[in-house]
Amino acid sequence: MKFKSTRDTSVNPTLVSAAYAIKTGLAPDGGLYIPESVPALTGADFDALIPMTYEERAAKILSLYLTDYTYDELYADACAAYAPEKFGEYAAPLRAMSDGVYSLELWHGPTCAFKDMALQIMPRLLSRALAKTGEKRTAHILVATSGDTGKAALEGYKDVDGVKISVFYPVDGVSMMQKRQMQTTGGNNTYVAAIRGNFDNAQTGVKEIFGSADLAQKADEAGFFFSSANSINWGRLVPQIVYYISAYCDLVKSGDIAFGDRINICVPTGNFGNIFAAYLAYEMGLPVNRFICASNQNDVLTQFMETGVYDRRREFHKTISPSMDILISSNLERLLSVLGGAEVTRDLMAQLKTDGIYQAPTGLTAKVKALFSGYSLNDCETKAEIASVYEKDGYLIDPHTAVATGAVKKYRAQTGDMTKTVTASTASPYKFAPAVAEALGMAEPDDIFDLLDQLAQKTGTSVPAPLAETRTLPVRFNDVYDPDEMPEAVFKA
Ligand SMILES: *Cc1c(COP(=O)(O)O)cnc(C)c1O
Repeated sequence: MKFKSTRDTSVNPTLVSAAYAIKTGLAPDGGLYIPESVPALTGADFDALIPMTYEERAAKILSLYLTDYTYDELYADACAAYAPEKFGEYAAPLRAMSDGVYSLELWHGPTCAFKDMALQIMPRLLSRALAKTGEKRTAHILVATSGDTGKAALEGYKDVDGVKISVFYPVDGVSMMQKRQMQTTGGNNTYVAAIRGNFDNAQTGVKEIFGSADLAQKADEAGFFFSSANSINWGRLVPQIVYYISAYCDLVKSGDIAFGDRINICVPTGNFGNIFAAYLAYEMGLPVNRFICASNQNDVLTQFMETGVYDRRREFHKTISPSMDILISSNLERLLSVLGGAEVTRDLMAQLKTDGIYQAPTGLTAKVKALFSGYSLNDCETKAEIASVYEKDGYLIDPHTAVATGAVKKYRAQTGDMTKTVTASTASPYKFAPAVAEALGMAEPDDIFDLLDQLAQKTGTSVPAPLAETRTLPVRFNDVYDPDEMPEAVFKA
């Protein structure tokens, strides 16, 4: 299996190995790597997958894409990534809600959000990729974060061979819990610093380091090179295919569906990575009837699914589901390329860059609409959904998940399609405790840890250990830099 750029229009596209795609992240023409063809799962494959553990399913599915890795390597990495000490009994459990909706809980990992599902295994894949491509230098991962990605990346890259990681966050731009999670990170290859400025300042600082030939040379002399943990890396996408197939297997196993029954899949979407992974599962043979793309008030994708027009020239809204506050959904490019081809993709991406808007051709729009529906919820609707699900199902969900379950309701009301639906639940409610508590009408104490305890008491659930323990873990990282001091910080890290 080889990979090509979403924008490569040549008759014989340049093909690279999985290890190379994972090591380099972005293709040289600015496109994203996609598989040259999508491997098919047969009925016999599903029969084999159904009785397997999550780790075995992961190794089997990853081995279809990462053909330059052995099955044993992938199985060892999956076992290390999804170990019970990290994810509890089962990495991606399904919880039945009412009316044939199932919540696929993807937040049992070390940072209580779904990014752990990819970021726990991707660093191991990268570490192997370095060996497979003859790389002698250390990969120094640089991350600018507005909160969640930074901690998930730190936990994933912590103590992995051949890599080190530095994370920069805006000094006043992350929540108290997020800051504490990052500052207390362990590991002998991790570094965290605050930047005086906002997220854009931190992001620009990282991009300038990536773009500097001088710094690249200086790094080379010191025995390392800069790399990113960005969600457009193929190594972050491929592990996400696994849990959709796994969820289907679990529904068959439990007798909730018969093999071959089609399901709907709803994903709370920001950068379009998670839902694109679900789409790949469908292309591989997963019986899916429809994808519901759920957005918050930043509803650029909702409009795209309806009209084929992608228009980023709109107001940016800060919402209670901040991990979906996004105007450019980078991974949508992968869907455009698979459905519409490289030439169309290249043109549309150029238009987006220069004009901030594009209109997909009619044929491509029709293909998207045949499979995807987009719905959005504002913050008020999201809080009402959290309260309603808690009341009806006794189930506590976070604002991102609520955007998704609310979108399912809107879709069903509009279409009458009551197909059983798997909804991606992307964060623990405790990770976004202030918004959840407000939705339940609770008074908010000043101290975040008191709030977690009160939420646990009220709902009879428990505070996830990784969040609870940050209360007592020592703060390891207290550095604060100006943006122009970031290169210095990186070389000191
Ligand atoms: C990152 C994130 C999302 C969005 O996922 P994409 O793959 O970017 O679409 C949704 N919910 C949570 C909690 C996240 O952290």
